[in-house]
Amino acid sequence: MKRRQREGELRPRRKTGMMIHPDLLTILVCADDHHPLTVEGDALVCAYCGRRYPIVDGIPVMLPHNAEAPTANS
Ligand SMILES: [Zn+2]
Repeated sequence: MKRRQREGELRPRRKTGMMIHPDLLTILVCADDHHPLTVEGDALVCAYCGRRYPIVDGIPVMLPHNAEAPTANS
């Protein structure tokens, strides 16, 4: 009997721009208040305090002093 094995090609999906792994997002929290972060463009944004952590070369920069403080629009 001849059986042809179909090998599924495991090609990584190429994504332009965002390269943050979903699992990474689940463990990344705001360095200031430890709230979860969401991706907005090329930055991670804390929904709680509004800080934006820039993503450089696919790696989020989580240093508090690098985070852009939210502009007070009151
Ligand atoms: Zn925060």
